[in-house]
Formats: sequence, C-alpha cells, structure tokens
Amino acid sequence: MIRGLVQGVGFRPFVYRTAAKYGLKGEVNNRTDGVAVIVRGDPATVEDFSNHLLAHAPYAADIKSIEVATVPLRDFDSFSITRSINIDDQITEVSPDIAVCPDCLNEMDHDPRRKEYPFINCTNCGPRFSIIESLPYDRSRTSMKPFMMCPACQGEYNEISDRRFHAQPVACDSCGPRYTFRNGMKVLNDLNSILRETAALVHEGKTVALKGTGGYHLLCDALNEEAVRMLRKKKQRESRPFAVMFRDAGCLREYCLLDPEESAELTSWRRPIMILSQRKQLAPSVSNGLNTTGAMLPYMPFHYQLFRMLETPAIVLTSGNISDEPIITDDDTAATELGGIADALISYNRKIVNRCDDSVVRIIDHRPALIRRSRGYVPRPVDLQADAGNILALGAEQKNTFCLGKGTMAILSQYIGDVRNLATYEFMKESLGRFSQLFRFTPEAIACDLHPDYLSTRLASEMSRELGIPLFRIQHHHAHIASCMAENRLDEPVIGISFDGTGYGADGTIWGGEFLIASLGDFTRYTYLDPVALPGGDAAVREPWRTAFSYLYKYFGNNFDFMSLPVFNQAGSEKLKLLADMLDKNINSPLSSGAGRLFDAVSALLGLCTIEKFDSEAPLRLESAIVKKTGEYYPYTAGGQVVFREMFMLWP
Ligand SMILES: [Zn+2]
Ligand SMILES: [Zn+2]
Repeated sequence: MIRGLVQGVGFRPFVYRTAAKYGLKGEVNNRTDGVAVIVRGDPATVEDFSNHLLAHAPYAADIKSIEVATVPLRDFDSFSITRSINIDDQITEVSPDIAVCPDCLNEMDHDPRRKEYPFINCTNCGPRFSIIESLPYDRSRTSMKPFMMCPACQGEYNEISDRRFHAQPVACDSCGPRYTFRNGMKVLNDLNSILRETAALVHEGKTVALKGTGGYHLLCDALNEEAVRMLRKKKQRESRPFAVMFRDAGCLREYCLLDPEESAELTSWRRPIMILSQRKQLAPSVSNGLNTTGAMLPYMPFHYQLFRMLETPAIVLTSGNISDEPIITDDDTAATELGGIADALISYNRKIVNRCDDSVVRIIDHRPALIRRSRGYVPRPVDLQADAGNILALGAEQKNTFCLGKGTMAILSQYIGDVRNLATYEFMKESLGRFSQLFRFTPEAIACDLHPDYLSTRLASEMSRELGIPLFRIQHHHAHIASCMAENRLDEPVIGISFDGTGYGADGTIWGGEFLIASLGDFTRYTYLDPVALPGGDAAVREPWRTAFSYLYKYFGNNFDFMSLPVFNQAGSEKLKLLADMLDKNINSPLSSGAGRLFDAVSALLGLCTIEKFDSEAPLRLESAIVKKTGEYYPYTAGGQVVFREMFMLWP
C-alpha cells in the first residue's frame, strides 16, 4: 500500500512500467486511502521494485509511506491496472496544475517531434484543474476537447508503456493549441516571431499581457524602473509589491536569500510565489520599500522559451486584472480590459475553464505557510481527522475562499478575492457550481461568518432557506483557530491565538487580537488585546495615523504632546481636535481589539506608513523595518485584557 499524494499524478502507469521493467506480474489500483500494488515475484526483485517506486516516483507525486505485506498467493497472467475499488476515489482524481517537468523540457530542446512546442506535457505534468469541466477526467471533459489528437499523439496516449499514456492534454505542434500575438494591427502566429517580438517589447520597457495557466498576467522588465513605474501607473495600483519571475534559481539567488526549505518549495512542481528576503534590489518600484520579494520560477514551457530570448534575468509577472476584479481568463475580456494597459497581448486558443491565481507561500519556522492557496495546490483536499459530513463553508468577505467538507476531506476552492466586488462575487458562485459538480457535492449544512452583512453570509442564508438545510454562523477567529487545528491534526482543546485585522465578535464588537480556549466545536474568549476606538471606522483602517492617535489619546488624553511627533504634526491640530471630539462623544468610533490595528498604530508612529495605499501596508512596512529579532518584549499588563499603556509610555 502506497500512501501520500499518489492519485491523479500518473502514478498507476508508472507502477505498471516499473513492474514491466522488473518482469513482475500483478495489479495496481486506486483506493480511497492510497494506491494498492500486488506483485508476485521473489523477495529480492520485489524489494528492488519497491525501491525503484520510491526513488523514481512521478514529478508531482509525494510518497508518504510504502507499507509492505504478504497476501495469499494469486495467479496473474500479466501486470494490469484494475478498476478503482472505491467510488469515492473519483474525488481525489482532480489534480492541481503541474509545472512542466524536466523530461518534457529536455524533449522540448532535443526531440524533433515536439521541438520547441510550447504546450508540451506528459502524464506527469501540464495543465489539470485549469482545463477540467467535469468528471471523470478525460479529454472530452476538458478544454482540450476541440483539439483532435493526431495519429502520433493518439498512439502515445494509447500506449501504456509511453510516458504520455492517458495524458489528457497530450498535444503536438500539428494537433494542439497555439499562441497568437497581437499588437494593434500586427498579428503573429509563428512562435519564434512571437518570442522575438515580445523580448523586444520587454527590452524597450513595454508591458505585455500573457495568457498563463489560470489567467492572464501582465509582465515587464523587473530591472527597468521606468517600465515598472509605467505598469503601476497603468494598472492603477500605486504601491502593492509586484511578484517577479526569475530566469532560473541561479538568477534568483543573486537577488533573494534562499534557505533549503524555501528552495524546495520554490522549485517544486507547484511553483508558487515565495516571499523571500532581498539580497539585492531589482527596480525599486517592484517592492516599493519592502525588504522582501515575491519570487517565482518559470512553470509554463512558454516562460522558459521567453527567458531564452530575454536579456533581463527577471520580469514582473502580476495578475492581469483591474483593481479588485478577478484575474482575467477569457480572450475578449483581456482584449478590452488589458488592451489599454499592455502594449501587446499574447493568447492561446485553449480555454481556461477554472480561473486560478498564482499561489503565495512563505516559509515560517521551516515550514511552508500558505498565504494564498491556489495554482498548484487547489483542488487537493486537506485531510481531516474528523468527519466533515457534507458541510459547505462559505468563508468571509475579503480574500474569500470557500470549502466543501466531504467526509474526512476539506476541499478548499481556489483564491476567490473580495466578494464585495460584483465580478468577484459572480466568480465565487460560478466556482461553487463547478466544485459541487466536480466533487458530486450536495450540502447538508452550511457554515458562514458571524458577520450579518457579509455578502457570503447573505448567500449562505439564502441557500440554507432554499435548500431547507441548517445554517451555522461561526465566529471569525474561532474559525481561524479551528482551521489551524484541522491543518495540524489537533483535536484536543488548545490555547489559540488569532492575530487578525478585523472579525465580527460574538459580542457584536470588532475582534482581532484574540486568545481563545478552543476546541473544534466551541470556544471561550480567554483574553484579548485592549480594544481601541477607531475614529472614522473604516477610515481609520485606511489611515493608521488615526489609530495611533486613538491609542495615545486613550492612555494619556491631552497630557500627551501630540505635536511633538511628526505623524501628528503632519495631520495638523485641526484634524486632531476633530478626532478627539469624535472619541470623546463616541461618534463613528467603533471599538476594535484587532492586532492589525496595533501594528497600524506602531507603524504610523514610526512614520513608516500613516495612510495606506494598499491593504495591510502599515503592518507590512513595520515588519520590513525589523532589522533583528530578539527575545525581548515591550512591557504590557495582562489580565482581563492585554494592555499596552506602558509600551506607549516609552514613546518617544
Ligand atoms: Zn512532462
Ligand atoms: Zn499531435
């Protein structure tokens, strides 16, 4: 029995080929809990066979264990792939999109049949989730459907010993998808011309829109400050850092610090964006003063081909979307929406069925922490210890993802985004439909946030009424802690600390610096960060200097010499008086225990960020300003609440 990530990644054909190599008879099949292999042969050969499986497993497989047992003797004529034992098996068959594998890259360079073919793929690599419409996963239910396989591809597809056996997106230059380049009236269809022209544009500091695996990207030279600034201006995204794709790991190391864990995740077939410490600066506008770079490596064949033509070792590769809208996937929308931003548009004639942003990962304490779980990870389920029945969880409002509970699996959606944006809200509903269909899911209960006004909460109430199933409203930070418990397979009560910006509290106030004694089903609020009033409500979240003022005013009133600090001097005494008035009279000044607000206040007091240009800028700049971490801490008093009066007394 082989357990781990072994389904939907070409594992069974691999076992078949390995058995053939060792001359073993027997069978292989998928089960709910892994892949079962039965072989008949002498012990030494079986051991060699087993070692070979471990050492040469497919690119996207991740073997956690091989358990060997003796079974009653059976007669086998040959080695065969038998039908899956459990119907549940189909659930795990949707693989995430997999970066092009080393074998295909090698073939792209040398094999005449697919030389320089930019949609090269095999059983071990290529698009999966992004092209699938429904199950079972075969070509006619993917966006490869319009592409009739040529006899050569068909032969490979049918031949079990071929590394393209049952590779649904299999294609070649004579039968598969192709790229098209458009720049005004100029249309190119020849790959070499497209690459040359694109490289020339990048070299000139222009912006190019490129259709990726799960949506469009905008790209430009990451070393050309003028180009990056122009892209920012056109994208109307003033300050948020851009992700960067490097030519290869060597180039990346020149600009970023990389430890072994970071390197492993970065080069994995998932190819996420990794948040890395900077070693050397790219164009300053890429990170805009932060000391980290969101770095990734090529993952589509086209990326590799483009870098061969490019002089620059790094390109900005940012989502092709307009402000809070979802990443664009279809060519018409790209032409109208990105036409004004990009100097050229590179598309290909295969539809992106499931939109999927690049994933973002940071290594924390030697382990990958997912900041945005999307391409390369979705729709792989998270294994649970508990039975989640058939619960649909709709999540919160900003940075939304939803989750299907299916038995002992939690199947999370791709990153959805801020559902207050209509297009994003539609995307959530569309994706919910797709996931329900793919995973044969019918909810028996719905969970949503406790916040009454979240659009996800409203949708949950509507669905619960329509379907006549129960609705559970979950406190935001309890949900955070319970998810963390599930991910780490904890089921005993825990002390859970949830440091967050905002979440609707059980008492109707804004929570976000919470110390909960929590189990999976329940919690008590043990203590929390001393709540501070946010003068102006949401305006205080966007303008951290207001929260800074509120903290000092709360602790010291008019005894504090506000004008001695540049942040308040800049705001002016008029505004301060207005704020003091709002606080005194409790006008539009909701209380918040959010840890994000404390970070906002400190960041503003240090002059790092007084007014945010993008979400979470103040805490990010504060984190970026940390030169050295020590075990020391600022004074505070803990009791019913964690109070920072003494810490603020140290100012300045
Ligand atoms: Zn491959
Ligand atoms: Zn072909």
